[in-house]
This record gives sequence, structure tokens and C-alpha cells, in this order.
Amino acid sequence: MTISRADCVALDADDPLKHLRDEFVLPDGTIYLVGNSLGAMPRAAAAATARVVEEEWGRQLVGGWNSAGWFDLPLTTGDRLAPLIGAGPGQVVVGESTSIAIVKAVSAAMGLRPGRRVIISDLANFPTDRYMVEGLVKALGGYEVRDIGVLDEVLGDDVACVLMSEVDYRTGERHDTAAVTAKVQAAGALMIWDLCHSAGAFQVDMSAADFAVGCTYKYLNAGPGAPAFVYVNPRHHARAEHMLTGWHGHAAPFAFEPGYRPAEGIRRFTVSTPHVLSYAPLNASLDIWERVDLGQVRAKSVALTSLFIDLAEELRAPYGVELVTPRDPERRGSQVSLRHPDGYPVMRALIDRGVHGDFRAPDILRFGFAPLYIRFADVYDAVATLTEVLEKEHWRDERYQRRLAVT
Ligand SMILES: *Cc1c(COP(=O)(O)O)cnc(C)c1O
Repeated sequence: MTISRADCVALDADDPLKHLRDEFVLPDGTIYLVGNSLGAMPRAAAAATARVVEEEWGRQLVGGWNSAGWFDLPLTTGDRLAPLIGAGPGQVVVGESTSIAIVKAVSAAMGLRPGRRVIISDLANFPTDRYMVEGLVKALGGYEVRDIGVLDEVLGDDVACVLMSEVDYRTGERHDTAAVTAKVQAAGALMIWDLCHSAGAFQVDMSAADFAVGCTYKYLNAGPGAPAFVYVNPRHHARAEHMLTGWHGHAAPFAFEPGYRPAEGIRRFTVSTPHVLSYAPLNASLDIWERVDLGQVRAKSVALTSLFIDLAEELRAPYGVELVTPRDPERRGSQVSLRHPDGYPVMRALIDRGVHGDFRAPDILRFGFAPLYIRFADVYDAVATLTEVLEKEHWRDERYQRRLAVT
């Protein structure tokens, strides 16, 4: 290794984001490289949640819908999140999960492109994206899901929309959203981006996209089960209608009319009673994000992932560890994936030694680098531990072979 641990400590001392680590709770002895799956807890999250429970729910009771702004949480929180994805106010709502957000975006896109009966989805995408589209197509009838393959070959005048992830959850590869969006729109179709592995990892720009969806519990640190978001380009606000026509998206939700009429603007992309308590940690996290320079986040992310790639390179010849993620920083998100035939027990052995990554079948070791709280020294120590696990073959231990339910 050409870079020493002391070099990494020096890099940490110069890091303009170093003060942010204190904003998060990170157990001692843990190198947490799973912020791309469940972000660390903002220190302020517990008190923020307690405040909503005790002061809002406890004292204001049902009045909280007005006095504490519960009814508008999907919109007010969406406005706070919007800058992270290059969107403006009134363009994002927060609520439900990413899977549900996909149904909203895809069904709205189908409605905007009547007569086009093909939905293009990526077989390599996170499975729920694909499963939700399959369910929609089955329920509506007369539609077809087509795999993305080579985009130029599958785009035709029968395509209503394309759903793709900006960053591949398995390989960490980042797609060129501007180029893909332009190509899809030139074919008359609508572009829907899944930003689960983008939002909070770097500055996203959805200004050209038609729709976007994403979760807030990964790089955005909003906690397990935190609500997802949907972005709708304002050029579609007047006509886009999705199929989850719940009462909160109604033009007059408290008129209790017999039939559905969509609300004006982005509000029609809300569905039903928001999970009020889950917005508290998200808003606590957004308090941090509002103070962060996303250019610095990206610069640090590139530096962390590049360091990890350079150090892990040493593991290729002796142990057959292969780099899966593109070496060109422009072509990756904030995650690095390595391949090893015994990836599962290797990851279990690593976790047992305090280095937390995760495993994705069949043979991928995933490491996420959340720039707000991961240090250069953590990267160094993680690779040192991985080296030891491989060198001493700790992973062969019986205990690491049996698969746990959640990998
Ligand atoms: C994490 C992730 C999801 C999660 O979906 P949920 O509905 O929140 O369970 C969906 N899509 C992608 C690409 C993801 O990375």
C-alpha cells in the first residue's frame, strides 16, 4: 500500500466536512459502510421525534393536523428535500415508500402517453422496481414490460416510459441521466429516475426528467421505514394523474365528495394520511443537509471511493478480489462493490470484526461511503481488516457459512 494510515488521518484533519460526523450517532468500534442501505442516525433525531410525540401528538391531539402542520408535511418536507435533487418548491412530495412512489410515477406516465403500451424497465434494477411495474401491467392489462437491454434498440413509438436507477444498487455504476433522459424524450417517451442511491450521495439534477422517485433512509439518514419522495416535472402538473387516488390528493379532501377530483399541482401526488412520526427524523436530517455544500459532498465521496479502490487493488492478485464498480469516478455513485466467490462468509467475518458492509447475491461485497460521517482512516482500516480476513482465511469459520434472513 502506497498510502499510509497517517496519510489518511491527515486527510481527515483537512476534510471540510469533518465537523458533521458529530451530528451522527455511530457506535464505537464500528466502521459503518452501509449508509447506502440504512443511513446512520442523526443525533437530533431522537429529540425531534420525542418532540412530535410529546408536544404535538400529546398536547395538540387531533388539532395537530392544523396547528402542527401535519396535513402539509408531505409538501413542506418535499420542498426541503427538493434542492438535493435539483428540483424547486412545489415539485416534490414525501410519503409512502419507494415502491408506492414507483406506482404513482409509472401510472401517471402511462396516462400521459395513451396508446403507447410498453414500459421499459431494467432487469438489473432493484427488484421491487421491476416487480411493481409487473404488477401494474398485469392489473391494467394490454401493457407490456420490456427489458432495457440496449436502449437504442428497445426505444420505439410504442414506449410510454422508461424506469431506471441513476446508480445501480449492485455494481455502483452511475448512468448519465442527462444523456439517457434526452434519448428517451427524443423517442417521445417519459423518463422516470429512481434516485435511491443518488439522493444525498451527490448533487442530482432532475430538471430535465419527467418524474423521479427515491427513498430517504439510505444516504439521507431519515431512519428505518422513512417516507419516500416523488418528483414531478412542473410541465406535467396540470395533466399528470396517478392511479392511487386517495383522499389526501383530492382537490377538496374535507368536502367528502362522492367522486375523486385531483388537487392542483404536486399535492395530487399525495395519497393518504401521512406517517407523521416518520417525518420527524427526516426533518432532523434535512436540518443537517440544509447546511451542507453538495459539491464538497461529491468531492469527498470521490476521494473516499478512489482511496478504497486503490487500496483494494492490492487484494486482486493474492485473493482474487475483483473490482465491480467503474474505476472512472464520473461513472460511479458513492459505493464500491467487490466480487469474491466466497463473498457471503467474507462479509460475515468482516462484520464480526467491526467493518459493516453488505452482501448482494451471488458474490458481491458492497461498501457504501456516506461522506457526512465516513473518514479516510475508516477506509484504511476497513481494507486492512478485509486483508486480514482473506489472508488468515477467517471467513472459513463454520459460523459464517449459514445465510441470515436479511443479507
Ligand atoms: C432501496 C431501494 C428501494 C426500496 O424500496 P422500498 O419500497 O423502500 O422498500 C427501491 N428501489 C431501489 C433502486 C432501491 O435502491
